[in-house]
Amino acid sequence: MGFLDKLLGRKGVKEASADAPAAVTPDCPHAAVTPRWDSGADMGKTDLVSAYVCEACGARFSREEGETLGASAADRLRIREDERQEGMQR
Ligand SMILES: [Zn+2]
Repeated sequence: MGFLDKLLGRKGVKEASADAPAAVTPDCPHAAVTPRWDSGADMGKTDLVSAYVCEACGARFSREEGETLGASAADRLRIREDERQEGMQR
């Protein structure tokens, strides 16, 4: 059952992404937010980030919002990794 669910789930995700227009991302998960700094001298200092920008859709976020998005994206990746390892053991 688990195997079938994974198979169907993967197929559904693939179809959904294929149907979505490349230029428009109305439901962008903002999983690719990258930090931006006003001053080049501050680059790399996470506490001095001026804004976060989503590489996928170009949306701009405050430092607080960007950190939240980055954290939730990392959580999703970790869960996906756990599911994959669980599937391999069976
Ligand atoms: Zn986005």
